Amino acid sequence: MFRGSDITQDLKFYVTNAMADTCNECGVCKKECGFLMTYGNPGSIAENYKADPGRWLGISFECSLCGLCTSVCPKELDPAAWFLDLRKEAVKKGLINFSKHKTLLNYEKKGNSKKYSLYSLPENCDTVFFPGCTLAGTRPANTLNTFEYLKKQVENTGIVLDCCTKVSHDLGRQDYFNEMFFEMKSFLIKHKIKTIIVACPNCHKIFNTYGKEFKVETVYDIISRFGFDDTRKISGQITIHDPCPMRFEKSIQDSVRSVLRKKGLEIVDTPHQKSKTFCCGEGGSVACVSPGFAQTWKRKRVNEASPHKIVSYCAGCVNLLSKSSDAFHVLDLVFDPEKTMAGKAKISKPPFTYLNRLKLKRKLKRKPAKTTRERTYTAFEKKRRNGVVLKLIFAGLIIAAIAWTRAAGALAYLDPGKLSGLIHESGNLGSVIYMLVYALAPALFLPGLPITIAGGILFGPVWGIVYSITGATTGAGIAFLISRYISSDFIESKLTGPKWIKLQDNVKKHGWKAVALTRLIPLFPFNLLNYAFGLTKIKFSHYIIATFICMLPACIAFIVFSSSLLDLVQGKLSKEFIIGLVLIVMVSLIPVIYNKIMKKGKNGI
Ligand code: SF4
Ligand code: SF4
Repeated sequence: MFRGSDITQDLKFYVTNAMADTCNECGVCKKECGFLMTYGNPGSIAENYKADPGRWLGISFECSLCGLCTSVCPKELDPAAWFLDLRKEAVKKGLINFSKHKTLLNYEKKGNSKKYSLYSLPENCDTVFFPGCTLAGTRPANTLNTFEYLKKQVENTGIVLDCCTKVSHDLGRQDYFNEMFFEMKSFLIKHKIKTIIVACPNCHKIFNTYGKEFKVETVYDIISRFGFDDTRKISGQITIHDPCPMRFEKSIQDSVRSVLRKKGLEIVDTPHQKSKTFCCGEGGSVACVSPGFAQTWKRKRVNEASPHKIVSYCAGCVNLLSKSSDAFHVLDLVFDPEKTMAGKAKISKPPFTYLNRLKLKRKLKRKPAKTTRERTYTAFEKKRRNGVVLKLIFAGLIIAAIAWTRAAGALAYLDPGKLSGLIHESGNLGSVIYMLVYALAPALFLPGLPITIAGGILFGPVWGIVYSITGATTGAGIAFLISRYISSDFIESKLTGPKWIKLQDNVKKHGWKAVALTRLIPLFPFNLLNYAFGLTKIKFSHYIIATFICMLPACIAFIVFSSSLLDLVQGKLSKEFIIGLVLIVMVSLIPVIYNKIMKKGKNGI
C-alpha cells in the first residue's frame, strides 16, 4: 500500500505526484466522504495542490483523517496519510495559527500538565494502565473500576494519567508531538515499563505507532481473555461503532464483540463497521474548522445504526454520538450494565470532567507507589515568525540608537579614540571585570551576545577576541563543573526532552565531536548546553578544548563586526564592518550547509 509518512521529501514532487499519477479518479472513496464530495477525488486534489499549494494545505484540516478512503481504495492509496502530510507541511511552513483549535489544544495541554498528570508505579511494576483524558473525565468511577480489575489480572499494574498528545499529532504539529511523546516514553522505559494497557483507541494508535518498545494491549483484550466478575446479564440488540483508529485492528474489534456477547447483547451488523467504519465527526479535529463535515459524519453513523442503540469503545465517539442517539461505552456496560442500558449511567460533561480528573488523581495519589511523578515537561514550540520579528526589532533598535545618538549630539562621547584612551587608563581592571562578567554569565543564564558585542566596542577587534573567548570559555567550563559536581540531579530532572537524551547519546558515540558540532551549529541554547554536557561522560579537557576552538569563529565574527559600531555611529563605514558582516554571514551558513548535508543522507552526528 502506498502510504505517506513523515515528510522527508518535497510533497509537491514526490508524494503528491504519486497520488496524482496513481489515483484513477474512480470515485469509490468520494462516494463515502462529504469532504471528497466537496473537493474532488484525491487525484484531482493532488493536481490542484500542485498549482496552488497554500490553499490546499489549509483545506487538509477539513479532512477528518478517518481513513475510510484508505480502506476502500482499490489502488491501495492512502489519502488519509497524505492529508496528514499536508497538515504537517502547513505547520512546517507556518501557515496555520490554530486559533480555531485553541480549546482543543488547551485540553491537551491540561492533560500533560503537572496539575492533571500522575504516574503511579508500584514496586516491580512493568505494566501500566493508560486510561486517556476523556474516559477519566467522563467516567472516573469506571476508570477506577477498570484499574482495580486490571490489578487483579496483572500483578503490580501501575497507572498513568497523562495525554498521548494525539491532538497535536493529527494537527500536524509533529515536532511538538515527538518531543512530548518521547519524553513520556523515555520516563516509562527508564522505569522498566514493558506493557501499556490502553482504553482509548487514539492512545492505542499513538502507542502502537510510536511506542514500539512496548507491548500495547487494550482493556477489551484483557476483559475478553480473563472475563469479568460482574455476571449480571443484559439483553437487547445493539450496533457497534468501531472508532476510526481501530479500523484495521481486527483482534481488538473481535475482543469488544466477544465482551458484549458475553454480556448477553445481540450485535446487529451494519454496512459501515470494522474496516469500513464511519468517522463519528470528532476525527482530525475537523469540527473546529468545518462543523458541517463533522455533522454529516455523525448523521451518517446515527442513521445507519437507527433504530438500534450504538455501543463504542472510544469515550470521545460516545460523547458525540450520544447527543443524537442512545450511545454507550463498552466499559459502562461491563461495570454498570443495567443502568447503562436504561440510559441512567452517570456520564459527566465539561466542566465537571476536569473536576473529575482532579478528584481521580487525588484518589490515586493516596495509594502507595514506589515511583510517582507529576509531569512538568513542556516541549519547546518553534515560533519561526517570532524569530524573524525579533531580528527585525533588534535591527530597528540599532538604527534607532544610532539616529538618537546623532540627533542628541552625543557623538563626541562615543569617539573610538577617546574610548580606547579611557580603557587604557583603567589598566587591566577593565578587561578583568569584563572577563569576570562573561565567566559568570552562562551559569546565571545571561545572554552572551550583548557581552560579546560590548567586548568588540570596548576593546577593539584584537583584544576583544582575546577577552571575549577567554571569558566565554571560562563561563562554559564553570557551568559544566556545576552541573557535573554540584547539582547534577536537579539539572538532570530539567533536561528530560528527547533532544537532550539524543545529545547524551551523541556524546557517548562521538565524544568531543558532538561538543564541536553543537558549538558550531546553534541547535541548543548555549547556556543550557553547558549544563547538559556536564551530565555526560565527556572528559572536561576534551569539552573545554572543543568549546574553545569551535566557539572561536562566531566570536571573531561578532567582535570584528561590533568593533566597527562606534565608527558606524559616527557615520563611517570601516573595513571591520565589511569583514565582520562577511564573517557573520559565513558563520550563519554553517547550519544551512550542515542541514543540506544531513538531508542528502550523508553521515553526520
Ligand atoms: S480520511 Fe476520511 S475524511 Fe479524509 S478524505 Fe478520507 S474518507 Fe474523507
Ligand atoms: S478510491 Fe483510490 S483510486 Fe479511486 S478516487 Fe479514491 S483515491 Fe483515487
